[in-house]
Formats: sequence, C-alpha cells, structure tokens
Amino acid sequence: MAQTPRYRFAPSPTGYFHVGGARTALYNWILALQSNGVFVLRIEDTDDSRNNPQWTQGILDALAWLGIDNKDSHFEGPFFQSANAALHVEAAEKLFAQGAAYYCDLSSEDIQKRAKESGKQGYDGYSRDRGLGPGEGRVLRFRVPEGATIVQDQVRGSVEFDNSTIEDFVLLRGNGSPVFLLANVVDDVTQGITHVVRAEEHLPNAPKQQMIWRALGHEPPVWAHVPVLVNEQRKKLSKRRDKVAVEQYREEGILSVAMKNYLMTLGWAPIGDTEIVPFEKITAEFDLSSVNHSPAFFDIVKLHSFNADYIRAMPVDEFIRACEPWLVGAKAPWQAQDYDAKVFAEIAPLVQTRVQLLQDVPSMVDFLFCDLPTIDDAAFTKAFAPEWASATLIEIRDAFKTCEFTPDALKAVVEAVGEKHSLKLGKMQAPLRVAVTGRSVGPPLFEPIAMLGRDATLKRIDVALAKKV
Ligand code: GLU
Repeated sequence: MAQTPRYRFAPSPTGYFHVGGARTALYNWILALQSNGVFVLRIEDTDDSRNNPQWTQGILDALAWLGIDNKDSHFEGPFFQSANAALHVEAAEKLFAQGAAYYCDLSSEDIQKRAKESGKQGYDGYSRDRGLGPGEGRVLRFRVPEGATIVQDQVRGSVEFDNSTIEDFVLLRGNGSPVFLLANVVDDVTQGITHVVRAEEHLPNAPKQQMIWRALGHEPPVWAHVPVLVNEQRKKLSKRRDKVAVEQYREEGILSVAMKNYLMTLGWAPIGDTEIVPFEKITAEFDLSSVNHSPAFFDIVKLHSFNADYIRAMPVDEFIRACEPWLVGAKAPWQAQDYDAKVFAEIAPLVQTRVQLLQDVPSMVDFLFCDLPTIDDAAFTKAFAPEWASATLIEIRDAFKTCEFTPDALKAVVEAVGEKHSLKLGKMQAPLRVAVTGRSVGPPLFEPIAMLGRDATLKRIDVALAKKV
C-alpha cells in the first residue's frame, strides 16, 4: 500500500505570525488535503531566549483563522519540539557511536586562528581523527563525506551541492544542547514526515539535513523550498521594515478568504483568467511544480483590492456580522448608546460597495451616530475653497427645506443647482458631503441624508456654513 503523505509546518514561536509563514502553512495544508495525507503542526520551541507562549497562541489562532482546522482529520498536533529533546540527544549519540559524527574541543577563537593561518574559511576538520569523547565545552560535529549531495526539490528541480563547500557542521553545542539542523531532522524522522515544504531560506540547510537523514538510516523526504516574499523595493519582507503580521491584517479587517486567496496567488496562479477564485478550486489545482522560482511581491494594494472584491460579494447579512467587531465593543469609535444597528443595516449595502478594509467601516458611517459630525479641517478647507461652494450650498439648503426628503428628490435638487451653475454632481456634492458627514469620502450621499432626516441635515448645513475657512 502506498505510504500516506505526511506534510508538516514547523514554525518557531519567536514573533508575530508572518504572512510568508501563512503561505507556507497553506501550501502544506492544501497538499495534505489533495493527497488525503496529513498536516503535522510542530512548534519549534527550543530557542528559549526567543520563545514566548504568546507567539505559540498567535500561530494557533492564525492557522484557525486561515481555516487550517485542528479538528479536521487531516490535522495532527500541535507537537512541541522541546518535548523531544531526549530523542535529539539520542540521535546525536547514535551518530557519534557509528562514526558519522565526532567531538571537537576547539573554541571559536581557535577555529578563526586556524582559518586565518591556512587562508581557508570555516572549520577545517581538525578533530576528525583525534578520537575525542564527549566532554564539557566539546561540540559534536557531523563528518561530511566527500562527493556531492543532490537535493531533489519540487520547486527548484535537482540542486547539487559540492560537499567540499560544506564544513563539518555542529550537531550538539558545547553545553550538549542540539542545534536546529539536528532537532528538525529528528522530529521529521520521528513524525514520519514524507514532504518538507518550507521557505527558501532553508535551502542551504537541505544538503546537511539530507546527510543526517541518511546517516540515521532513512531515505530523505521530498523537499520543496518556496521562494521568499518581497516588498515594493524587491527586498525580502522583514518584520522590522514591513507589515508582515497576519494578526495585523486580521485586525484591520482583511477577510480570511481574501487573505488565503491572495497568498495563494503569490508565485502561482489558478487556471483561467481570474485570480479571485474559491479555495476549493485552488485546492484542486495547486501544484508545487508550477510555483514560480523568483521572489513574489507581497502587494498590499492588491491584497486590499482582493478584500474589497470579497466584501462586495458577501450576502449583506454576512457583511453586517463581519463588521460587528468594529461597530460594537471596544473598537467602536462611538458610545454604545449612540449606535443603532437598524440604521447600520440600512446603510450597509452602500458601505459594502465602497470599503476595502472592515476597519474603515466606522469612519464611513459615524456621521449617522452623532448629533453633529466632527468636521475634518482639511476636507472642509478643500471643499469650501471654490467661490461657488457656500453660495450653492445655501441654494441646496433652501431647496432641502421644502423638497420631498427621499434620496431621488434630494439628488434632483443638487443636480438642478449644479445645472444652474454649470457644475457636475460630483463637484456640487463635495461641500454638502463635508457638511453632512464631516469628511470628503464616504458612501453614496443621498440615502444617508434621507435617513438623517430634514432637521438634522439642515442643522449640519448651517453649522458648516457658519464655520470659517
Ligand atoms: N522552525 C523553522 C522556521 O521557522 C522551520 C524549519 C523547517 O520548516 O524545516 O524557520
């Protein structure tokens, strides 16, 4: 019987969950689903100085948000690397016992000195045949064989490494603790991993890890190293420079469907002429061998436009529910008693067509939940700068006193005043928008004006007219 494919995602909990990590996780998840295989989540928490339980929780929450569901039958874990420390040491001892590794007592200063003297960089294998046993301060090094190591990579093809360029690398530090290279392989072996799909930055580790796999008596997994994500300047996304935290995008109101779809278009494209497609289609079509080798640009503008598309496509009830965290509770910019869910439900279809991020929803509707809006000074100055602005707004106000107070009638009033002054509706409504909403952008204007009602609207126009530019 064919072996069940076992993929894994092995993040280190050392910071916010990176969008690049999210993409790698999605790749592994999709591949596990496609093959009716397993997705193992392993938290690589062995770097005590950088780990924090908060980051582990962040990973679990972000995966759940992305639909990588720990209750699904394809999901195994989370497993914690720190729980396997004894296995890592045991494997190192085995490698030593069989001669695949040896102890060395050189300090890093000694190594540097020897490198300087010989003119060759790195560790020169000084202790290979000195027959040292374990001891305080001694590191265990892997005895790299002569020849070449070929890594079969599903994204990059066959990648050959000349072993003479790989020094005898460390497996156990001087204090006996295992390094990443070893712990990572031992866990993969123990957890029966068949496919290692991870970030490209680990490609240089692959030949070393493949040697460890073989030395431990196992066939290496299928490798796939996926290209990095870069920013506008084509620099690798970095948490110091760029917005990389999945949590942050979620907080801003990126929908998980939009994020998933967008991440999957980085370096890969679904069949057909649109990139905005259901996750089921992606799951059916995704294929590692068609992932592009070059770095992929993480374009926030494009992510926002995907999000806007997904928002527009939502049934309005679902949109209203999705907005709730920004409308009620701690994130809402108004007092709870000023908010009216019925009023929001009425205007929601209009907001839905205009908004890119759910966090922007309150600022599009806050004028409905206050007595008078706070007028944005810059918007006011700009809208009221033309000499016709106040005069036409006075005409509009006067007509609003008696016209029917419906969106169509209100619009007709503004259009008529515009025609009289040879001004288009877009221009004409700018001062009115600022007067009524306090801002220069927002949802289509006449429906909310009708909702506000005549008295409140006239009051707002008068307040704006009395304000000095
Ligand atoms: N813990 C490693 C990292 O977060 C992952 C290594 C791997 O996927 O093999 O970069």
